[in-house]
Formats: sequence, C-alpha cells, structure tokens
Amino acid sequence: RIVYVNGRWVPEEQAQVSVFDRGFLFADAIYEVTAVIDRKLIDYAGHLARLKRSLEALSIPLPFTDDELLGLHREIVARNELESGLIYLQISRGAADRDFLFAADMAPSIVMFTQKKNILENPKWKTGLTVKTMPEGRWMNRQIKTVQLLYSSMMKMEAERAGADDAFLVEDGYITEATSSNVHIVTKDRRLVTRHLSNALLHGITRASVLSLAKEVALQVEERAFTVLEACDAAEVFITSASAFVMPVVRVDDAVIADGRPGPISQKLLEIYIKDRMASAI
Ligand code: PLP
Repeated sequence: RIVYVNGRWVPEEQAQVSVFDRGFLFADAIYEVTAVIDRKLIDYAGHLARLKRSLEALSIPLPFTDDELLGLHREIVARNELESGLIYLQISRGAADRDFLFAADMAPSIVMFTQKKNILENPKWKTGLTVKTMPEGRWMNRQIKTVQLLYSSMMKMEAERAGADDAFLVEDGYITEATSSNVHIVTKDRRLVTRHLSNALLHGITRASVLSLAKEVALQVEERAFTVLEACDAAEVFITSASAFVMPVVRVDDAVIADGRPGPISQKLLEIYIKDRMASAI
C-alpha cells in the first residue's frame, strides 16, 4: 500500500512517525474511517463535519482546506486503486518532548492509509451477529472520535473469547454502544429506538443517515436510552457503522432476538442505505 504521512506518499514499510508523537504517547489524536465503493466516498460530508468537531473539541488545528482534504482522499484511492474498502485518516496533535502540557502552536501529524474490503458482500448481513453485554468503561467524552480505543478493543477480545462477535457496553442498565458502532432496536410495535445524542456515545454518521432514511419510509423514530432488557425483548436489533452499514444482531447474551434471523426492517434499512448513499457518493 501507498500511505500518506505528513505531506509524503510512501510505501507502507517506509512510513514513519516520531516516537514523541502525542498520538502514540497520550492517545492525543482523532480519526475518521470512510467507506469507498466503486472508488467513491460514502457519507463523506458527515465524516468531514465530525472530523472538524473532534479537532475543535481538542483544539487541534486542521492544516488543510476542505478541497485539499477531499483531494487527499481522492489521491489515496487513486494511488492504491481502491475499488472498495476503507480510508483511515488520523490527525494527532503532533510530536514534542513528553510532557502533559502542550504548546498551542504544535504542528499536527497526519496519517492516511487504505484497507481493501468488499463492503457490499458482507457475509454477516445474512446471519447477523451475536453479542455479549459488558460494563461501559470508556471515558466520558465519547462524542469525540479519539484513538483511545483500548477499552473497546479489550471488550471485543473478551466477547470473542466468549464465542460472540461483539460486545454491547452497558451503563446503569442502558446500552451506550457496541465496541465500534451505534446500537438500535425495533420495538414490537415497529418503532425505531436509538440512544439520543450526548457525550455518552459517538455521534455515528451512519446512524444519522439511517435515521433520516427511516423517517422517509415512515418508520417512527424515538431517540432515547434503552435497556438491555428492551433489546432482548425487541423485534429487531441492529448496529450501524461506516464499515458494516446496517448489521443485524440476532443474539444478546442468552436472549435470541425474535426468530434468531435478521429482521425485515434491518434488511430494508440496509437496502435503502446502500441505494441512497451510493447515489450521493462523491
Ligand atoms: N460508535 C463507536 C464507538 C465507533 O467507533 C463507531 C465507528 O467507528 C461508531 C459508533 C459508528 O460511527 P460511524 O457510523 O460514523 O462509522
């Protein structure tokens, strides 16, 4: 792969970042993951807007114009001949001698790489996922998309050891998120319930798109916290993310959701998400 590091395009083996980079020493960095299908960017405007919000929250300057940043996305797709997959973009505060205090004028480090992936042929869409609930243990500013992913990674490992695909993180009985996606349920009376936006969760770009499409197909949306019990008792459970789009969940701990197969509303939302987002991909 050809990767981007601080203004240079280099083969991945030659890419280097300083050992003093604050992304490495303090997780002082934010990131975005954007899906690519047919060499086009899915939901790019949303990802760009959130990137700016995350940087703003940490007072890290964005050293590019919108056109330049879009140009970098297009160039990494072209240089890697990426038909379908993901673009990872990380911006850290930069490198400085290790100190909790940092200067206001540091030069940010920017890294980009691609991951090839056949996004439109996800075998898990047909079977759905099984998940285990785990205690929420992340920091309280989850709306900022930082690279502080250790807790989520540990919980996903634990879920895998328990034979599940992913973990749902639970705070005071309520589900916040899965390890790298937003969680939604469809109640037996066909309402789509998803946790309201706050600092308890990442404001998913796919979540926002799916909610607006749900309204278009006359599905009533309720943005509020919901419990593990409500999820276990739901007609459907699904997660959303830029890499898996709309992914059904068929088991939560020991509770099988409905008949244990992906439900019709999740399938419909996946279908219309793909259609709508591919039509507006850039
Ligand atoms: N929640 C968390 C914790 C995530 O890491 C992600 C994506 O990486 C999401 C939700 C889904 O967000 P998006 O739809 O913007 O990919």
